Amino acid sequence: MLTGCPTPVILLKEGTDTSQGVPQLISNINACQVIAEAVRTTLGPRGMDKLMVDGRGKATISNDGATILKLLDVVHPAAKTLVDIARSQDAEVGDGTTSVTLLAAEFLKQLKPYVEEGLHPQTIIRAFRSATHLAVKKIREISVTVKKDDKKEQRELLVKCAATAMNSKLIAGQKEFFSEMVVEAVMMLDELLPLKMIGIKKVQGGALEESHLVAGVAFKKTFSYAGFEMQPKRYDQPKIALLNVELELKAEKDNAEVRVKSVEACGGSIQTSVGSMTDDVLGRCEVFEEVQVGGERYNFFKGCPRSHTCTIILRGGAEQFMEETERSLHDAIMIVRRAIKNDSIVAGGGAIEMELSKYLRDYSRTIPGKQQLLIGAYAKALEIIPRQLCDNAGFDATNILNKLRAKHAQGGMWYGVDVNNEDIADNYLACVWEPSIVRINALTAASEAACLILSVDETIKNPRSSVEGPPGGGRGRGRGRPHAH
Ligand code: ADP
Ligand code: MG
Repeated sequence: MLTGCPTPVILLKEGTDTSQGVPQLISNINACQVIAEAVRTTLGPRGMDKLMVDGRGKATISNDGATILKLLDVVHPAAKTLVDIARSQDAEVGDGTTSVTLLAAEFLKQLKPYVEEGLHPQTIIRAFRSATHLAVKKIREISVTVKKDDKKEQRELLVKCAATAMNSKLIAGQKEFFSEMVVEAVMMLDELLPLKMIGIKKVQGGALEESHLVAGVAFKKTFSYAGFEMQPKRYDQPKIALLNVELELKAEKDNAEVRVKSVEACGGSIQTSVGSMTDDVLGRCEVFEEVQVGGERYNFFKGCPRSHTCTIILRGGAEQFMEETERSLHDAIMIVRRAIKNDSIVAGGGAIEMELSKYLRDYSRTIPGKQQLLIGAYAKALEIIPRQLCDNAGFDATNILNKLRAKHAQGGMWYGVDVNNEDIADNYLACVWEPSIVRINALTAASEAACLILSVDETIKNPRSSVEGPPGGGRGRGRGRPHAH
């Protein structure tokens, strides 16, 4: 019935909030800037930490982008995209979470004028995708590969990568100590480098340097039995029965972690009765020891034959400090695993970003029209990394960036920020290295997030599913509905 009726078609329920078009895009872009503000100051070795307190008063101190964003409890739908990429960066490569967030926000900031101007988002997206493609290709081209067959050289490389990852953390002062430990730990794993075979146990008290690595499984002593004080505290070549029955009052038969780790490491299988103890169901290890660690008794199973397992015993003061130490070690472990899997590295401290920026700027000059401006905007956005590293160190960013641009124009491709001397330095020679995969992943994810946010030009908020609004009213209506039908 096309009668030319002017009445608007009502598609959405009353109270539905929609906003669309350019204003919607701009508001999404602005929301992402707020997210970036939250993590901006944590980037790099001179970055600051954040102290976050949740609803229940639990305090967390962290320097890790993904952790901070997770705790922020972001509700803005577009801004949540940035939280998601930080999280996936963390899961995929374990480092570069602050960088990925900053890059995505800066991409959006640089392209905002074009959106305001009314340039079609698809044009912008096309330019950004091709810039990312070029940048990734360039990283692959210039990254440095270290020979795997030279074990000593490989190990040195790994220690340096681990140290770079720890530079920006609270434990930077002990990075030599911990980077050796992390590399040692990862080296103990088998070829697949399963992360879960490195246990980290926090034992409060003592100095950070008293932390150590146990080749095998370690856990807090969870079982005791009558007269155990009299028993020897060390057994060589013991056979281990893994029992899922309670022998004594304090047996923790449901402690899944102890169970899984021990089975995988020592072999044997879990028994539910003591009736059929044959040799093949028993596990083995070189040494069993009961040791005092701080105020706790610990059981160590060392030299487990079946699996390559190790446990890092962390010592230290405040709980929050140890939690952050654990997260930092996790970052470093991830980096080392990555570096073993792909032995290709680039120089950090903004060096790789400056080089890509120069490359893309040069490239943009060869193409006409809007694409030139957009790829130029992308190149400019990459400078956020060295700029922020300078800002966080209290340096004059404009000055340092000018020096860096000049140096890169002359072919100094690994020049980046020297955080110790308020200057620029060849960060390849200075051993500020990062696995290329971390940078590739960060660039791809950041650019995809920016494109995703750009391709959303309308948000429709269903009033019923909205979390905001009057809590009583919203809930009541939601609950009442089904009965009305
Ligand atoms: P992210 O979560 O992105 O990994 P970080 O706080 O770990 O954030 O900072 C990483 C940045 O700091 C990278 O760009 C890295 O190259 C840089 N960086 C690390 N160590 C140094 C150093 N010694 N000198 C200059 N830059 C460094
Ligand atoms: Mg890092």
